[in-house]
Amino acid sequence: MVRYQIEGGRGLGSRLQQPNMKITHLSTAVLEANFDWTFVKIESDEGISGYGEVFVAPGLTAAVRAFEPLLAGEDPTSIDRLVRRLKASCVHAAAGVAWHAIMGIEAALLDMIGKRYKMPLWQILGGKYREQVPIYADCHAGDALESIDALLLPRTPQWMKNGGEDESHKSVISVKHHGWDATRPEVLTAGSYAARAVAMAEKGFRMLKFDVDVPTPFETDEYNRDLTGEEVEFAASLAMAVRKAVGKSVELAIDCHWNYHVQAAVRIARAMEPVGLRWLEDPTPPENIRAVGEVQRNTQTPIATGENHYFRIDFERLILEAGLRVLAPDVQKMGLWEGRKLADLADMHFVNLTLHNISGPLGIMAGVHLAASIPNLIAMEWHAASVPFFDQLAKNWEPPIIRDGKIRVPDLPGTGVELDEEVAYRYRKPGETFFE
Ligand SMILES: [Mg+2]
Repeated sequence: MVRYQIEGGRGLGSRLQQPNMKITHLSTAVLEANFDWTFVKIESDEGISGYGEVFVAPGLTAAVRAFEPLLAGEDPTSIDRLVRRLKASCVHAAAGVAWHAIMGIEAALLDMIGKRYKMPLWQILGGKYREQVPIYADCHAGDALESIDALLLPRTPQWMKNGGEDESHKSVISVKHHGWDATRPEVLTAGSYAARAVAMAEKGFRMLKFDVDVPTPFETDEYNRDLTGEEVEFAASLAMAVRKAVGKSVELAIDCHWNYHVQAAVRIARAMEPVGLRWLEDPTPPENIRAVGEVQRNTQTPIATGENHYFRIDFERLILEAGLRVLAPDVQKMGLWEGRKLADLADMHFVNLTLHNISGPLGIMAGVHLAASIPNLIAMEWHAASVPFFDQLAKNWEPPIIRDGKIRVPDLPGTGVELDEEVAYRYRKPGETFFE
């Protein structure tokens, strides 16, 4: 019998024969930005650390740190097995806080593997299709989103106070309007939407997203998912104002944040048809895949959803049962390795991905590697236009991170971005540990 054996020396064989690296410690830090930006740092016995960013949730850092005993002493390169083990440890974790934590850990492990083997993350994920990743700017509702905590309640972080921020307009969020501040109706006009679109287009963005599930001058019920004719007309007028302001060279998406029932969603989707949207996002609540399929079958406007779905089986249903042709998975929620697998599944059905993202620079740069490594990419989201220190957090990157609406794909090992912990410390969230 012939026995095959990997010999030492040059090439893959010698690489595989390096002794295993072992995980030694896991810690977290949270920054108060527009959202909570939660980072996980995993350290090894070789002095190599990996960083990941975790999708915001209440109680998140405790959930992340709870996994440390399962990781200590493990070889981070067994990434698929480790993720399965973490998942199994919470009685087969489903969508939610534990899964967010696991996917943040997965990102940190991939960063660590890349640094150990001197490979950029895109190479680990199978190679790159593009040198630059197109980024679309979330423009919220004609004005920049300010700062909200893990329960989506408005807050004023220290850096905002230093800027002399006026707190008088802060209000408690309503369910229907996804945090938009109804006490400032002056920003909810066609003119303010158009002005914001022009400003972002001038920065080089070729794709923008706005919210239309905003308070209107009309009396509505917050909970019944209904839209009156006047409300539909108001929403369409905001979108049309943006289209007229930027012309056809800028692609537009509109977000509805799961607010409507099927009939209302169909009305708003049809009213948007003359605007020529790239996609209409989340018109109906995420848990009912049949409902979103009914909306899609009744409009020419492409419907997208995905930021509330976590697993490939749900995305497969969105493709096969709902007939969606644009999927919008969240980079942090689905994870990078899982995201690569999802992209393959979607590509098999000629479905493209637009990557939802509300993270800070570590999360967005990890997402850039995924975006570079999949063929079926539309763009990736950037939600941090209102955060003045976004560019300062990456110490080995010449700012700005986003140029002309694109991010250059790094060739450095791992995510290729080093978190400047000294700068990050200035924006830490009170009451949270900082990489202890
Ligand atoms: Mg959305």
